[in-house]
Amino acid sequence: MTRNIVVTGGGTGIGRATAARFAAAGESVTILGRRADVLAEAAAQLGATAVVCDVSDPEALTAALPQLPAQVDVLVNNAGGNTDLRRVADGTLTDVAAAWRANLDANLLSAVLTTTLLTDRLRTGGTVVGIGSIAADRGSGGGAYGATKAALSTWNIDLAGQLGPRGITANVVSCGYIAETEFFADRLTDERRATLVEQTKTGRAGTPDDVAALIEYLASPGARHITAQVININGGAFPSR
Ligand code: NDP
Repeated sequence: MTRNIVVTGGGTGIGRATAARFAAAGESVTILGRRADVLAEAAAQLGATAVVCDVSDPEALTAALPQLPAQVDVLVNNAGGNTDLRRVADGTLTDVAAAWRANLDANLLSAVLTTTLLTDRLRTGGTVVGIGSIAADRGSGGGAYGATKAALSTWNIDLAGQLGPRGITANVVSCGYIAETEFFADRLTDERRATLVEQTKTGRAGTPDDVAALIEYLASPGARHITAQVININGGAFPSR
């Protein structure tokens, strides 16, 4: 049976690599994002369906519903971004409020709203995967990005509880430094990049496909008893215990 896969932020980076893995396996893939050109190019290359939508906007999501699959087997809440001010005390209170709200929208509300929209369409045997961050454990400098990613993991526990009786799992994949995406494009100095790699035990940055492979596993029959978890993928940069 061909499964229906929905990936938010599927036009670039980790989302695109995830969409590519499922598409290569013959699944039916729908990708969402705000930039029509980026999405169209990815969809054409992957053989996916593109739905232009700001997934942090309830009205935009509601309007997009008719373009989304009637039944969903795998939902990957990957859309996100870091809008932290550099330090906790930077900016006016208005700047701080704007930065926190933007992080909340990008990293928490996006997942909550997309999952809520599609919850009745999620099929038994399916899975919901959120993309968390090592910043949830270690902080993110300005504070809001890490805090909103931590909130995503906490929300996921209740989500897993609600979906469990329907035979649907929910997990968060918490990423360390993943190179080759727009996320860090103009944020990292070479020195900082080298430091992030040094913090790993593998001696390298993660790749989008490393993350995609883990998501593919979580969506496989072998992972049916894994739910309500935060699974680190960071090359050992943050050993849990
Ligand atoms: P990208 O910037 O390439 O991916 C983010 C994607 O999300 C883009 O395609 C963007 O497209 C989309 N997006 C953002 N906001 C919205 C929105 N409101 N509605 C719809 N789409 C949206 O970077 P990554 O692939 O690295 O990031 C993917 C996820 O991984 C993020 O959640 C990020 O926080 C997380 N992560 C990344 C790490 C890394 O080292 N790269 C480390 C830890 C976590 P568009 O702008 O067109 O909407």
